[in-house]
Formats: sequence, C-alpha cells, structure tokens
Amino acid sequence: MEKKPFVTKEQLEEIVKEYPTPFHLYDEKGIRENAKAMKEAFSWNKGFKEYFAVKATPNPYLIDILREYGCGCDCSSYTELMLSEAIGCTGEDIMFSSNDTPKEDFQYANELGAIINLDDITHIAFLEEAIGAIPKKISCRYNPGGVFEVCNGIMDNPGDAKYGMTEEQLFEAFRILKEKGAEEFGIHAFLASNTVTNQYYPMLAKNLFELAVRLEKETGAHVSFINLSGGVGIPYTPDQEPNDIRAIGQGVRETYEEILVPAGMGEVAIYTELGRFMMGPYGCLVTKAIHEKHTHKEYIGVDACAVNLMRPAMYGAYHHITVMGKENQPCDHKYDVTGSLCENNDKFAVDRMLPEIEKGDLLVIHDTGAHGFSMGYNYNGKLKSAEILLKEDGSTKLIRRAETPKDYFATFDSTDFYKKLKL
Ligand SMILES: *Cc1c(COP(=O)(O)O)cnc(C)c1O
Repeated sequence: MEKKPFVTKEQLEEIVKEYPTPFHLYDEKGIRENAKAMKEAFSWNKGFKEYFAVKATPNPYLIDILREYGCGCDCSSYTELMLSEAIGCTGEDIMFSSNDTPKEDFQYANELGAIINLDDITHIAFLEEAIGAIPKKISCRYNPGGVFEVCNGIMDNPGDAKYGMTEEQLFEAFRILKEKGAEEFGIHAFLASNTVTNQYYPMLAKNLFELAVRLEKETGAHVSFINLSGGVGIPYTPDQEPNDIRAIGQGVRETYEEILVPAGMGEVAIYTELGRFMMGPYGCLVTKAIHEKHTHKEYIGVDACAVNLMRPAMYGAYHHITVMGKENQPCDHKYDVTGSLCENNDKFAVDRMLPEIEKGDLLVIHDTGAHGFSMGYNYNGKLKSAEILLKEDGSTKLIRRAETPKDYFATFDSTDFYKKLKL
C-alpha cells in the first residue's frame, strides 16, 4: 500500500514557521478513527477494555484522546503510574504489567487500585511482603516457551523471552493466590511483537482460552478476564497489508464462542494492551535535510538523530520516508539518511532509493507514533524534540515542548558546576 503522510507540504511549511524541526507530529483524526474501530471490533464482549501501553507514547494529551473511547492505561513503571493518575485514570482502569518490579512500584500500583499482573511466581511472596496482602483481583503472565507460529511462519520466540511463568508455575501460582484470598483471576500473554496478520490475536486467544478452561477446572480459581496484551502490528513497509481490527475482533469472537462459551465461561472479559497499533501510524518525525555528503556513499544529513527515533539504530527497523513535495518524482537516488550522533548506526535509512534531496527539504519519517519519541535518550548531549498534535480542524497544539540545555543539565542543579553554566 502506498504510504502517504497525514500532513501536506503546505501544512508543514506553516507548522515549521512556528516550531523548529525536528519534532514529532501526531494525527488526532487518525488516532480517533482507529480507537473507534478498535472499540467496535470488540464491542461483542461486554467487559472488553483496551489498556493503552503507556510506554509506547507517554503523552497525557494523546492518552486523553484514547480515554474518550474507553481506554485505560497499561503501566509498567512508577512514572507511568504517575502519568496515569494525573489524567484521572486510576483503579481498574490501570493494568500494571511490569517485570523485574521494584517494591515501590507494586505499592503505588496497589494504592491506585490497579490490576496487578504478576510476571513471575516468586512475585507472589514479593508482592505480599510489599503491600501486606494479596489483592482480590489479580493476573498472572504466561509464557509457553518454544516458538509461536502462525501459518507455518515462525513469528516470535517466547522460549527466549524473560517474561512470564511456565505453565506448571501458572497452575501453582493460581493455587497459591487462591489460598491467599484472591477471588478473581486473569491470564496474560504477549507471545509475538508487531504481528502484521489478522491471525495473531485469534491464535493467541485460542491458546489462552483453552488454558483458562483448564485452570478453572483444575484449580477452582475463577477466571474473570483474559488479557491478549500487545503485539498487533502496523505496516512499516509499503508492501505490507495493514491489519484489519474488525477481522481480528471477529476472529477472537469465534474462538471465544467455540471454547469459552461451551465451558460456561461466557462472562469472561477480554482485555488488550496495544501500544503500537493504537498510535504508531498516527505519528511522524518531521526533520529537515541540512547536509549532503558525497564520499564512498551518498549521504543526506538531517537535523533529527537516533535520539528522536532509535528504532532504526537499535533494530535496523524500516521507517518509510517521504520527501515532502517530491512524492511524484522518481526514486532514482540511493541515499543513507543520517543523524548527527557519533555512532555509525545513526541512520534513518541505508541504501534507500529516494527522489533527489536538496538542503532545506522537509522529510517525513513515518510511523513514529509508538515507541518513537518515548525510546529517546540524550546521547551526545542531544536534546529531545517537541511533540505537536495536528488537530482535526487542521490547527496545531504543542503537547510537549522541546528540551533545552537547561533540561539537559537540570540534574546537576545541586552542584557548583551548575552555577558556571551559561543557561
Ligand atoms: C510493550 C508492551 C505492550 C505494547 O506492545 P505493542 O507492541 O506496542 O502493542 C503491551 N503490554 C506489555 C506488557 C508490553 O511490555
């Protein structure tokens, strides 16, 4: 499918007059349409809830939009819990799916009344010690090991993943938790990431539904929710077909009616914790070409770098690039598009065929709405960019300002050195 930016060149030229590049831009209209489709796709399930994975895009203004469609927050850390509380998302609107969890995080999650999802059987004792009791409603994360395959293609490798409990541990954990007073149970599994197929959720659901039936039968624990977690992906490359969330919802429904309903478990709520699918396509990184360099290869240097988007540097991830205003020109130049870090992996594209780029051209790097800004860091003393919301009426709102040197040096503020800085 052709990948088109959600913003026009003319709009961008206006926006860059007010906000210097680079920045992340988000598409309110796209976020809303997708959130609505998501809600409708699972409306057959009475208790359905999407807990947005806060780590993907921890911006309160964006998460507030999702809240209008009934979404809660999936948190994994103390500060994510703080964000969630501050936007009024508390109690069972929070799923706390953490791992290697500090005691303080469990305590805070418990104070907020969040549903706690335990990553390991040893966390039962750890949690009990931290909060003095076992919550009435609790979830356990499952990891079946091995590989997770859909239609003969290996999709991911849970056997290598640090998350979750083995099946044996899960049964044992349910027995222990029940003994300690838990009354409502959930199971959670995240077995493959960024799946671009409508089959992932239905297949995962089948595994978890069968497991839930056995868990109820063998431990007597009451399973009240099943959390399919994240992993529904987006088409980063133009040749990929986007997932159809309605088909996915329907696929999960068929499995639900095949397995849970006959087992007398037709009241079980389905939860999801999508991040990428909810936000990924509705954000882009806007950057300007500031250098061209002709050496052993052709390089275009832009004013963004891996600090703004580290997926290409970290996993060699593909992000589509549109050179604004040159959409109809032939892609007859082969470029490495680079950032300014002193790291040779700081490249947004390698050997990418693009139209001829001139200094001053605006580039849109697609699909940065999830795991984009949020993965950023400050290597080379680079500052994190602003985040801007493109509203439905075409106007913009600054939803996070860019960092300044003062922010960068802020943690020295108790030192003599700080006074010498020209801030
Ligand atoms: C990262 C994560 C998610 C979201 O994953 P996506 O790939 O963005 O859908 C959901 N749940 C947990 C526990 C995660 O770690």
